[in-house]
Amino acid sequence: MAAYVCTRFCINKSKGSIRFIQRRFRVKTKWAATRPKFPSTELALHNFDTSYSIQLRDLWPSIRVAMLSEQKYGALINSFSSTANVITELEAQGCKDFISIDCTRNEVHQSTQDSTTSHRHSDPAAIQPSISTDIKCLVFPKGDISRFKPARPDSNGILGYYLLDAASVLPVLALDVQPGHTVLDLCAAPGGKTLALLQRHSVDYLWANDLSGSRTMRLRRTLQSYLPKEFLEDNKINITSTDGRQLGITEEKSFDRVLVDVPCTTDRHSAMVEENNIFKRSRTKERQKLPLLQTQLLLAGIQATRQGGNVVYSTCSLSQLQNECVVQQAISLAQQELGITVHVQDLKWFAQYFSDTFHFAPQLSVGELVLPHLCANFGPIYMCKLQRMN
Ligand code: SAM
Repeated sequence: MAAYVCTRFCINKSKGSIRFIQRRFRVKTKWAATRPKFPSTELALHNFDTSYSIQLRDLWPSIRVAMLSEQKYGALINSFSSTANVITELEAQGCKDFISIDCTRNEVHQSTQDSTTSHRHSDPAAIQPSISTDIKCLVFPKGDISRFKPARPDSNGILGYYLLDAASVLPVLALDVQPGHTVLDLCAAPGGKTLALLQRHSVDYLWANDLSGSRTMRLRRTLQSYLPKEFLEDNKINITSTDGRQLGITEEKSFDRVLVDVPCTTDRHSAMVEENNIFKRSRTKERQKLPLLQTQLLLAGIQATRQGGNVVYSTCSLSQLQNECVVQQAISLAQQELGITVHVQDLKWFAQYFSDTFHFAPQLSVGELVLPHLCANFGPIYMCKLQRMN
C-alpha cells in the first residue's frame, strides 16, 4: 500500500500567517469494489495457455506472440462508393487485392497442373467451385505492418472502404452467394461480413439479424455509411434485432445461404483488451454457455436453409470446443432431433487458394482455421461449410 506526503495549507490564527504543514496519509488502494484481482486479459491468457498448448502443441508459442502483437487489417472495397481511384491509391501504397491475386495465381497453378496430369479432368474431386472476385479486399504484403488511413467519403457521404481483419472475408467467400440468392446473416453486427455479402450485387434479398439492440443500431449505422439511401430503403435488406435461435423455426427452409458468425471468446480481443472482456469473472457463466449457444445458433441456421442450400459457421476463436466440436454436435443433433441431414463441404481447396495470404491450421477434423502469424497477422478465424441435403 502506498503512503505519500501531502502538503496542506494551515492558517495560524494567533499569528495571522499561513503555514505549510506536511502530513503523511496512508492511501488504501481499493481492491474489491473497483479493481479486479487479476485483469481479464490475464485470465484469458491463462485459459488459452492451458487449453491451446495441448490443442495446438508446438504451434501455440508463436501464435501467442502474434495474438499479442498488432493485428493486420484489410480494406474491404465498397463498390457502392463513387470515389474514383480508391483501389489505385491503395495499390500505390503497396497494397494488393488478396482475392483476385490469389485466384489468378492459383488458376495459373491449376492450369499448369491440368496440362501435366490429364486424369484431373475426369476426376470429380478435382472440380473446384469458383471464388467471387466481386468482393475486393486489399492488404499490405506479408511482413509489412503499415496501417491504412481512414476511408474518405464520396460526394454522397458513402465511404470508399471498410477496415476489418482480412480473414473475416473468408467465411463470406466460402458461402459462395450466387445471383438471385436469398441470404440470412444470423449474427450480423457490427456488420463487416454483411457489407462484404452486399458487395455481391447479385444478392436478391439479405436479412441481417443480431440479438443485441445496440449492436444492431451500430450495424444500421455502418450500412448507412456504406450504402446509398435508396438501396437501404429498397425491400432487399431486412434488419432485425431478435434471438437468432428463433429464426430456425419461423424461417424454416427459407434461405439459399445462411451465415452463422457466432458470439465466441474473441481470442485476440480477450488477450488484449480489458473492456467488454468475456473472461471477466462476472461473465464466467456466459462464457461457459457459449458452446451451447453456438450449437443452438448453428442448428437454427441449418433449419432456416433450403434443401441443397449452404450454411457457413464461423468464429474468431482457436478453440476446438467452439469450432469443430460445435459443428459435429450440431450435425448429429440436426439428424437426431430434426431429421435434417447435413454434409460437411470440403474447404481444403479454398485454404490452398488463399495460402499465400493466410496461415491455415494443419489437419482439422472439419473446417479451416486461420492462425495468427507474425508475418501475416490475421485471425484467428474458423469457418466450416455445410450443405443441407433434405
Ligand atoms: N458477423 C459480425 C460481423 O462480421 O461484423 C460479427 C458477429 S459477432 C462475432 C457475434 C454477434 O452475435 C454479436 O454481435 C452478438 O450480439 C450476436 N448474438 C449473440 N447472441 C445472439 C443470438 N442469440 N442471436 C443472434 N445474435 C446473437
